[in-house]
Amino acid sequence: MTKEKIAEDDRFLSGSLALDLVNTEMIVRRKKQDLLSSPDDLAQWWQAALVHHPKHEDIVGDGAPMAWTVDLLEEVKEFRQSLRLLCTGLVEDPPITSPDLTMLNQMLALGYQSAQVTPQGKIMVVYHVYDQQKGRILLPIALSALRLLTEGERQRLHKCKNDRCILFFYDTSKGGSRQWCSLGCLNRARSIHHYRQRSIGSRPL
Ligand SMILES: [Zn+2]
Repeated sequence: MTKEKIAEDDRFLSGSLALDLVNTEMIVRRKKQDLLSSPDDLAQWWQAALVHHPKHEDIVGDGAPMAWTVDLLEEVKEFRQSLRLLCTGLVEDPPITSPDLTMLNQMLALGYQSAQVTPQGKIMVVYHVYDQQKGRILLPIALSALRLLTEGERQRLHKCKNDRCILFFYDTSKGGSRQWCSLGCLNRARSIHHYRQRSIGSRPL
């Protein structure tokens, strides 16, 4: 994938792998659309996600190719729903409670950290997973969510300001003033606003 293509790929603008998963459900022309409607969609999304989040955790794999099954897709979607509720709770109705974190904790339990020495003698953290199929995709997402919740600033987590949009993002801008998931969404919201203003203005008295 070229850099230009990465830059214009608006599936990955949230600033967080976990939020990018939440954002695979979006509103397109007033209808909810699911970018993950088949195991192939999930495989394709995950490949793109790895390109956009190259710093995800090193998970020690067994070399076996991933089996993109319906079961895995369902599990990812269930986790996505739980993360959406968690983010919605954080943005709209804090504070969250322990039960909100149950599924995240289940996903974190898919693997464990260990220390490994590189050939250069450097000690690095790697992750092992008990279930290669599930763990290789769900654990990095869970760790991303954990970082967001524990290291991120809560006031920088936002839902897009466009009322018709359901996407979340983590604002990494210096001034912390980002309000929109994407430029496209800002422009759509502006044109709706202008259209409304114009129609109000042209109403006969
Ligand atoms: Zn938006």
